Parts: sequence; C-alpha cells; structure tokens
Amino acid sequence: HEESAIKELDASELKITRATAPRVVPEVNSKEVFDMKTCTDHMVKVTWTRDEGWHAPEIEQYGPLTMMPIASCLHYATQCFEGMKVYRGYDGKLRLFRPDKNCARLNMSSARVALPQFDPVELGKLMKKFLGIDGPKWLPKSRPGTFLYLRPAIIGNGSEIGVTAPAEVLLFMVAVLWPDFSAPRPGTKPAPPGLKLLASKNDTRAWPGGFGYAKVGANYGPAFVAHMEGRKLGYDQILWLLGPEHHVTEAGASNFFVVWKTKQGALQLVTAPLEGKIILEGVTRGSVLELARERLIEGSKYLTPEVGSIEIVERQYTMPEIVEASKEGRLVEAFVAGTAYFITPVSAINFKDEEIEIPMGDDGSSGHYAALIKKWLRDIMYGNVDHKWGVVI
Ligand code: PMP
Repeated sequence: HEESAIKELDASELKITRATAPRVVPEVNSKEVFDMKTCTDHMVKVTWTRDEGWHAPEIEQYGPLTMMPIASCLHYATQCFEGMKVYRGYDGKLRLFRPDKNCARLNMSSARVALPQFDPVELGKLMKKFLGIDGPKWLPKSRPGTFLYLRPAIIGNGSEIGVTAPAEVLLFMVAVLWPDFSAPRPGTKPAPPGLKLLASKNDTRAWPGGFGYAKVGANYGPAFVAHMEGRKLGYDQILWLLGPEHHVTEAGASNFFVVWKTKQGALQLVTAPLEGKIILEGVTRGSVLELARERLIEGSKYLTPEVGSIEIVERQYTMPEIVEASKEGRLVEAFVAGTAYFITPVSAINFKDEEIEIPMGDDGSSGHYAALIKKWLRDIMYGNVDHKWGVVI
C-alpha cells in the first residue's frame, strides 16, 4: 500500500486550454459593464482533495461550473472570496495593487470556514499568468486609466451532505468587467457627489466571536436585507453599527474613515480598529493608514494649503461622537475606502431618522483629505509613480 504525498498549490503545473469562443470587449462604462455580468474569456480552476491536496491548476474558457446538489457550499456556506482590481497604467503597463495582501487574506478567510490552506505566493503567480492571457485583450493599451475586477473564490465542493469540513474544494478565479461607480450609468443623470449612508438600526453585520473579519459569503447575503431597505429610502450603503453604544464599524463593502477636530482642537483621521475581529482588514484601509502616517506629518512635502498634518487614530468610536462633533462644528469630512468604491466621500449619514450632513470640501465635491489620499493611491495603481505596491504583470 503506497501513501501518496499531499500536494501543495503549484503554479508551475498550470495547464492552459485556450477559449474556442472568444468574445467582443464592451465599451468602458457601457450598460453591459454596469450590468456586471460580463467576464473575460478565461477562468482559473484548481481542485483540492483531502487525500491528494492541490491538483494541477487549469486555465480554461469561462463557463459554468458543475457541482452536485449536495455540494458543501450550497448548504453550509463553506465559501470565501477576494475582490481586487487589475489596472491599465498610463505608462501602458498592467498592474495589481498589493496582490500579496489579497492572497494572504483569502488564506485567512479559507481557514475561518474550514477550507484548506495554500501557498499565497503560488496564487499570486496564477493571477499573473491568468492576467497575462486575458489582460492585454480586455484591458487594451488604448484604454489607460481603466481596470478589471478580479474575483478569486474558494468553495466547498464534492458530493457529500455530511455536516463537516468538505473533502473536496474548488478554488476558482474570474475577471469581471466592472463600472467606475463615479461615472453615471448610461441613460441616467450623474448622481450628486458623495455617498449617503444609513446607519444600521436593528441589523448587526458582525459580532464578537463571529467572522466579520473574514471575507466569507456568509457576511454578505444576510446584509443585503438592510442594504435593499436603505436603497429604497435613497441611501447608497449601510453604515454598520455595533452594540448599545452604536460603535461605528464599516460601510457596505468598504471601511469607513472620519476626519474631525477633538474638543481640544486636535485634527484626527479616525477609523475602527482591527482588534475585536469585527471589521474586514481592507487593503485600501491599510494603505490609507500607511500613507497617511508616512506623509501627513509636520514638515512633509506632501502637505498642501488645505491638507495639514493630522493625527491618525485607530480606535473604537461611536455614532453619538459623530453627532456631537457635527453639532459642535468639529466634523471635517468622512469617506469610505475599499476596492469597489475606492475612496469616495460621504455627504450624509442617517442615524435614528436624523440626517447628519458631512462637509464635502470648498466646492462640495469631496473633502480635501479624501481627494489627496485618492490621488496618491491612483498614482500608484496607474503607474504615475513608481511604488512597491504597484505590482507589474
Ligand atoms: N469591508 C468589507 C465588508 C468589504 O467587503 C470590503 C471589500 N473587500 C472592504 C471592507 C474593503 O476592503 P478592500 O480595501 O481590501 O477592498
């Protein structure tokens, strides 16, 4: 009886089968793109089995997956995913933004729902090979400043209804055409700048001892109820609060930042902490904090007449603190930070049926901190500056 070794994820074993029915690339921000249904020509698939580990990765034509009705993910939410973008730079190159962070986070999420671990470096290599195939066609050089959304996911698969960790798993990755949400949908008027947030009332997105910190599908479906109610009332996203003191956690699928002056007059950029494992550790959040800590300090060449040095604070804070700052004229600006909505200013928050207006800068388009940080990140993503976070494919 021969014991076979459990195999690690290995990008060098990749098998590529080219698409036989390649499709036409739609226009940037067209209706088709806003519908968010179009993927590129190919996808990545890797099977894992408990007995053999990771099988050879495959790239094949984008198309349906087949699975048994008793596959684990269809019943027990054994599912996790990532969201990231690939950018066509103004220098003609394709770049990922800190892909190592997404690969590591997928591994963390996978562990949280009893799915297997993998070498995140190998996943990064698979990403590059995949985008080496679909990137040039779907993000042509003639469209600098555009991006595709990349969605890696891991699901419990196989054919076993047992209430246990699945013995067969599928890792897959697709690239989706994704609109620039700051552009109007074709046939509609441009929305006024700034997101309107509805603070959650009865719903809780995440709780101590739960899994809010993991990017698992089980965090999203149940949040759509509040999200759809918010949309009906004219709000863009839910601002998720937690507990009787109304701690501010995150907004929709983004992290949330507020700029205020303390009662003592100190200017602060504040966001919820990672401790407690309530919020998702956003790659954008971490990047905002790192850049702010490095550049928004006394004597920095990055400061402008509107944007001075600022204290960076990660701590628990509450909605009543925001209300008080607003009443006392200490609220400076607020913004969300994440891959999908990037850096978007917030214009209003509805808390307990009262709307708090958030300042939106001198011309009403964006707070100054949000605008400057957004520009820094864009410059890295689209290759206007050389930075270690912009990883060329
Ligand atoms: N919070 C939640 C709940 C999210 O889904 C996301 C999007 N992944 C974020 C925050 C922002 O994370 P990132 O900056 O990595 O996109």
